[in-house]
Amino acid sequence: MRIRTPSDSPSIIADTRVASSSGNSGDASGRWIKIDFHLHANEDPLDELDHSATELVHRAHDLGFGALAITLHDHVFTKSEVFDTARELDILLIPAAELRLEGADVIIVNITEEEAAKLHKLRDLEKLREKRGRSMLTFAPHPFYVFGGSIGRRRLLENIDLFDAIEWSHFYTRWINPNRPAAAIARKYGKPLLATSDAHRLDFFGHDYTLARIPESDGAPTPELIFDAIRAGDVRPVTQPWSFLTFLHYAWWIFTEHELRVLHAHAAGSGQRFSKK
Ligand SMILES: [Zn+2]
Repeated sequence: MRIRTPSDSPSIIADTRVASSSGNSGDASGRWIKIDFHLHANEDPLDELDHSATELVHRAHDLGFGALAITLHDHVFTKSEVFDTARELDILLIPAAELRLEGADVIIVNITEEEAAKLHKLRDLEKLREKRGRSMLTFAPHPFYVFGGSIGRRRLLENIDLFDAIEWSHFYTRWINPNRPAAAIARKYGKPLLATSDAHRLDFFGHDYTLARIPESDGAPTPELIFDAIRAGDVRPVTQPWSFLTFLHYAWWIFTEHELRVLHAHAAGSGQRFSKK
């Protein structure tokens, strides 16, 4: 298995709990489970993608993932047959969403549709987190990127208590890397970094992910065990910079081809991209 830290910022990543000796007890027990808690699929009413959640789950199985969260934009993913497929493939699929609250994207893992519908402001998360305790996980995706709904420095710092972790986005190169300030804040506030693929395309899934160490047991992993490991820093982000060419290709795709497709679908009435809740 390839485990690398970005060559331009090894100390940043290493300081934020990549080392396997960090976390719970510092011993070598437990088992590592491969997770990606930021994934998109064509079931998303606000997006236009080529791959289905079922395809994502099958690819995850091929790649050895143990737990996933499909994070539709402003919607909780609940399609029961996909949860059944995941279960058959020994993958823990956890209901989740990428919600935009006051213009800032937040990922909430293990949330219900009813709970999501009651969230309108960032601070609404405070009560929900209190109520749900260790059974829910929140993290700030791509906080320092200029696109979409990145939360940005000021609001991330003002609301740092609302987040269990901070995302290390896949979208960077050796020389262009907006993850650096996110990693500095993670280190300062003792938040683990989660590497994710934010996969809007199936071929970009699996390049970046996180390993989380859960206690050795015969039973299947639970959301709580994985969230405990994340909060304890028992995680290893697995990530490496894209080549500049791949970065450009992805940037072109996400900001032009993909955006045009979304706009076209919206104009044709099949998308609801701009009808935010
Ligand atoms: Zn996303």
